[in-house]
Amino acid sequence: MNIHEYQGKEILRNNGVPVPNGKVAFTPDEAVEAAKTLDSSVYVVKAQIHAGGRGKAGGVKIAKSLDEVRTYAEELLGKTLVTHQTGPEGKEVKRLLIEEGCDIKKEYYVGLVLDRATSQVVLMASEEGGTEIEEVAAETPEKIFKEYIDPVVGLTGFQARRIAFNINIPKELVNKAAKFMLGLYNVYIQKDASIVEINPLVVTGDGNVMALDAKFNFDSNALYRQKDVLELRDLEEEDAKEIEASKYDLSYISLEGNIGCMVNGAGLAMATMDIVKHYGGDPANFLDVGGGATAEKVTEAFKIILSDENVKGIFVNIFGGIMKCDIIAEGVVEAAKQVELKVPLVVRLEGTNVDLGKKILNESGLNIISAESMADGAQKIVEQVG
Ligand code: ADP
Ligand code: MG
Repeated sequence: MNIHEYQGKEILRNNGVPVPNGKVAFTPDEAVEAAKTLDSSVYVVKAQIHAGGRGKAGGVKIAKSLDEVRTYAEELLGKTLVTHQTGPEGKEVKRLLIEEGCDIKKEYYVGLVLDRATSQVVLMASEEGGTEIEEVAAETPEKIFKEYIDPVVGLTGFQARRIAFNINIPKELVNKAAKFMLGLYNVYIQKDASIVEINPLVVTGDGNVMALDAKFNFDSNALYRQKDVLELRDLEEEDAKEIEASKYDLSYISLEGNIGCMVNGAGLAMATMDIVKHYGGDPANFLDVGGGATAEKVTEAFKIILSDENVKGIFVNIFGGIMKCDIIAEGVVEAAKQVELKVPLVVRLEGTNVDLGKKILNESGLNIISAESMADGAQKIVEQVG
């Protein structure tokens, strides 16, 4: 789960990690009121969307007066911001962060992420802040430093200081920077985050070290014990189809293609997407209906897939293990009738009671194209949406 920058900064502030003073605003009036509470003559008006790259896209404005705060707030609120992270459709700005302008001396990058290869949290930092870290990684990987963190010991002062030295934080500020990183790591662990990215971390003219941006990602599996984090969820920033799917316990992620995929099991769902791609098609989604898919779940899954206007055909690829194929076939037929299916449907069934399942599909009177194997099914659906 993602949150907004201003929410991330609130968490940091509450945990003693330095950030500039600032307030959220939903209207131009609120923006001006927020600015009035700040002890500064320069204000920064920042679009709050769940995507980075706002600076380059015109979503971060420096205002030198309250009037300018109002002008920028009016300009940004309601605007659709297209950044390199939003996709071409962009995201509508509904909230702003009004923040004190900061006297930046230099920008750095600091991030914490779980490294799956070592099963350890890794602290990454670079003196190439402000730019996208992917670019730094691709062009000057030697400028990214890493510290792998022992989960029992946690981030040590020694490691935090070493990384601060490595990224050339001015000597007199190394201790402040190290303290910042220790605080950041503490928040990462306390809040069950999966990513925390501070880009930029800045050194200021008056000798402070603080976070000018904050991107948080939380482990969804831990949200049951992070009630205060869950309250920060902004459903308007999430895909409506994904929210609907989560109500029915379906693992659904929408993608850009036109072949709707309905599969049971995450591994099979991944393999299905691969094979559709292999035969030249483009999946419209990842969808795992789970092991114990009921007719109701299958119906909901169909509805969600079809609510995507790009879908020109559906490929059902189900292995009947715990669930028997005849039950699944009944679910598919029922769902296809309920949603008045108008796009081609290819079904590949395998497993327990497969013959009975196929019989039900064949006798349903519905236009269902039966496939003999995964490869056969993928080819058939690619042909259909052609
Ligand atoms: P994004 O990563 O989405 O582009 P940032 O929050 O990183 O957004 O802001 C982009 C740039 O704007 C920063 O690199 C920094 O140079 C500038 N900036 C952001 N917040 C402030 C601030 N409070 N004071 C001065 N400059 C800022
Ligand atoms: Mg940034």
